[in-house]
Amino acid sequence: MDNNIPDIEQLIKQFSKLPGLGPKSAKRIILKLINNKENMIKPLAKLLANVYKNVVRCTDCGNLKVVNQQCTCELNSNTYDKICVVENLADMWVIESANIFKGHFHILGGTLNSDEKYEQKNLLINSLVKRIKKNNLKEVIIATSATVEGQTTAHYIEDVIKNDKIKISKLGQGLPVGGEIEQLDDGTLVSAFKNRVPVSTD
Ligand SMILES: [Zn+2]
Repeated sequence: MDNNIPDIEQLIKQFSKLPGLGPKSAKRIILKLINNKENMIKPLAKLLANVYKNVVRCTDCGNLKVVNQQCTCELNSNTYDKICVVENLADMWVIESANIFKGHFHILGGTLNSDEKYEQKNLLINSLVKRIKKNNLKEVIIATSATVEGQTTAHYIEDVIKNDKIKISKLGQGLPVGGEIEQLDDGTLVSAFKNRVPVSTD
């Protein structure tokens, strides 16, 4: 697509930033869209505008919710006594689709580097503490990735939430070093959940 229409050029640039897409596949997608203005661009533009306007991140659990509506974390607050802490939404989705965990989710929204202060990042850790107390949760499963950042984050969380009453565990064997939750296959995830190890809190 060799042309000088700035909007198209910008669009290709934006699409190239999406996961799994390079400039070539971005161009193919744009071409497909342009050839189907009514059937594809129109509904897509409308949906994107709606999502931009109406979908926000819940400041309690980190999940997506419709603005001005109650989040599922509030509606289901008494359903379970376990909570699984993950780095991002994609991690929650793989765990959900593997069907290995029944409980609440808590999405941190990222990880900590060892040289970063918690205050520098906008991770939802204070709200995790609040949810544990408020919903009287019994077990926290920290399902951060087996990367340096993931483990730094896990340690930080352990320190913040540990007390006599709460059971804290981490995903166990089977989790490859450097492995990101999002990239794991179901079998590995199942085994990591089954073999989760208690974190000693002394
Ligand atoms: Zn929520």
